[in-house]
Amino acid sequence: MYDIFKKEGAIKLMTFQELQIIEPILKALQTKEYEEPTPIQTESIPLLLQGKDILGSAQTGTGKTAAFAIPILQNLYLEKQKEKSSRVIKALVLAPTRELALQIHDNFKEYGKNLDLRTTVIYGGVNQSKQIRILNQGIDILIATPGRLLDLIQQKKLTLAKVSILVLDEADRMLDMGFVKDVKKIVAMVPKERQTMLFSATMPKAIMSLASEILNQPERIQVSPEEATIDKIIQSIYFVDRKKKTDLLIHLLQNKEMKSVLVFSRTKHGANRIVKSLIQAGIRSEAIHGNKSQGARQEALFQFKAKNLRVLVATDIAARGIDIDELSHVINFDLPDVPETYIHRMGRTGRAGLGGFAISFCSEEETKLLQDIQRHIKMYIPVVKDHYFLPTTSNTSYQPKEQNTPKKTKSSSNYSYGYSKSSFTQKKKKTDKTQPKNYSKYDARNQNKKSSN
Ligand code: AMP
Repeated sequence: MYDIFKKEGAIKLMTFQELQIIEPILKALQTKEYEEPTPIQTESIPLLLQGKDILGSAQTGTGKTAAFAIPILQNLYLEKQKEKSSRVIKALVLAPTRELALQIHDNFKEYGKNLDLRTTVIYGGVNQSKQIRILNQGIDILIATPGRLLDLIQQKKLTLAKVSILVLDEADRMLDMGFVKDVKKIVAMVPKERQTMLFSATMPKAIMSLASEILNQPERIQVSPEEATIDKIIQSIYFVDRKKKTDLLIHLLQNKEMKSVLVFSRTKHGANRIVKSLIQAGIRSEAIHGNKSQGARQEALFQFKAKNLRVLVATDIAARGIDIDELSHVINFDLPDVPETYIHRMGRTGRAGLGGFAISFCSEEETKLLQDIQRHIKMYIPVVKDHYFLPTTSNTSYQPKEQNTPKKTKSSSNYSYGYSKSSFTQKKKKTDKTQPKNYSKYDARNQNKKSSN
């Protein structure tokens, strides 16, 4: 069913309930405020619950950890309900770095907090005695980096003889870091009768060959890489008070060159509020998010694609499945909490090599998020310094520290960057009180032209 929706360029949003997730895990997901599964979760969870092998092309930021952690926890829990087994390692997750291993461990603990399953993590570079003590208490799920794992196996501190689920996460990084031999050794120690998952951001030959050795008739799952489009997109940032964001949006949308605009809101309620304000201002728009029925979302999307609807307001999860080639503008009404999401949002425009615009609004509360994004994309996003809704605050904490931001890159060379005092503290001009007569003077496109003259 998901495939059909994908082919039509529409979205198939499901709930975790529809994915048959059991109550104790649902409760944990509620605490995490996960409202809907991400696309990789929607695709992977049903397959993994059935015990299938998976070859997944996905990177961090797509929700891939939950995509494998949730079904592993669920299957082990249900197995345990059927027959009480002893605490031996039944699931093994291999990760290339200590940081990733710790992150995966945290996720397992969070999603499995209402289940009677024990999880631990082992990695090198620290004393092994504490890790051994925890292992000796009995563990159901082990997350490990390959070196330390082999070390402890050789010391007979643990065995993989009862492992029935094996995950290789960030396999390409594992190979890059020279772990290929270790990984193969470890896999050989895991019983052949098992479920195996391999996730990798890229799929070079070496990974495909490893996959064919260790996976059994795997289902292929792909979350498309969007980074490639970044160079074709013109980015800009508007510093603006939170309360003025709607006015700024309405103002920007006066520009009829914005032919097809996807506006991102952090929350569903926020999306509804934006649409209400736009409609009041005479701008037709629709919201798509998890609270809307499948029919309403499909219809909004259809109208948007048919160019009958110029503005669509979406939450991140709802927008992920949208596949529209001629989207002219993405507007981040709210900055995303996770830097990777910024790239995913941008990837909604600039499809098919067409280029596009990504405009972001940044309020005082969001400056830290902006710094994180810039560090992640390794460039400054050009600031639109001259607009009608500049922030009024003189609060100095609103000024991110220049030294904490990344180095200027070539793509940023024609703009004024960083966070000059004036970006944040400039008082509104008198003219602000009236609606600007000529929007185009201030839009990002013109900024670009001006600066390249
Ligand atoms: P990952 O790709 O596993 O590193 O996940 C990236 C981020 O997305 C993490 O901060 C997760 O906590 C978060 N996340 C995973 N699944 C969901 C979901 N269904 N809804 C909201 N956030 C999620």
